[in-house]
Amino acid sequence: MKNIVVFTGAGISAESGLGTFRDSEGLWDKYKIEDVATPEAFQRNPKLVLDFYNIRRRQLLDSGPNEAHFALNKLEKKFNLDIITQNVDNLHEASGSSKVLHLHGNLMEAKSTVDNSIYVLTKSDLNIGDKCDKGGQLRPNVVWFGENVPNMSIAIQKVMYADIFLIIGTSLNVYPAASLIDYALNSKRIIIIDPNAESRKGVEIVREKASVGVSQVVENILSL
Ligand code: NAD
Repeated sequence: MKNIVVFTGAGISAESGLGTFRDSEGLWDKYKIEDVATPEAFQRNPKLVLDFYNIRRRQLLDSGPNEAHFALNKLEKKFNLDIITQNVDNLHEASGSSKVLHLHGNLMEAKSTVDNSIYVLTKSDLNIGDKCDKGGQLRPNVVWFGENVPNMSIAIQKVMYADIFLIIGTSLNVYPAASLIDYALNSKRIIIIDPNAESRKGVEIVREKASVGVSQVVENILSL
C-alpha cells in the first residue's frame, strides 16, 4: 500500500474557527446560497457576493491550521499522499501539505470575468472596481453552484488509484464532489472521520471531531 488519498470538507476547518456549510449558527445560515454562491447572484448583486466572500476571507486570514491539518502531514513520510479538498480555505497548504487539489476553488485567488485568468490576492477584500489586466471585474476564484468543477476528472484519477481513501468532515451532499467515494474501487480501506457520519457498507466510520479522529487514524495507519 503506497497511495493515500484524503478527501476533506468544511468539517476539517471547523476547529480552526471557519463555519461549516450545513451546521447551524454559521455564516452560511445568515445568507441564502442562491443570493451569494451562484453566477446569477453575482450578476444580480455583485457587491453582496463580494462582501460575503470578503467576510470569509477576513475570517480565514485570522485563522490557522488545526491539529487535523497537521496530523495528515505525518503520512507524507511513508506514503504518496494526495489531498483533495472541497474547501476554499488554504489551511492544508498552510499546515505544510505538499499536494493539495482544490475542487471548489481558492478564497485567496481572484478570477477574471473576461478570460478566467487567475490572480493571487494579497489583501482581504475584493471590491467592485478591482479589475483584471483586460479591464474586466474580478470575482472570487470559487466554483459556484451550477458551475463546472474543472478539477473533478483529476480527482477521480487520484481516487481510482488510492490504496487507502480517507474522508474527513464532509456531509457528502454537494455533487459531483460527493461521488468521489464511488471511484475508490481499489481501496483496501475507506475511512470516514466525521462526528455525524452515517454508516455505509464496507466503510470504517470514526465518529470523532477531526482534531481527535484524524490523529487516531494517522497513528493507526503508521503502526501497520
Ligand atoms: P458541509 O457543511 O455540508 O458538511 C460539514 C461536515 O463536517 C458535516 O458532515 C459535519 O458533521 C462535519 N463536521 C462538523 N464539525 C466537524 C469537526 N470538528 N470535525 C470533523 N467533522 C466535522 O460541508 P462540505 O461537505 O464540505 O460541503 C459544503 C460546501 O461548502 C463545499 O463545497 C465547500 O466548498 C463549501 N465550504 C467550504 C468551507 C471552507 O473552505 N472552510 C466552509 C464552509 C463551506
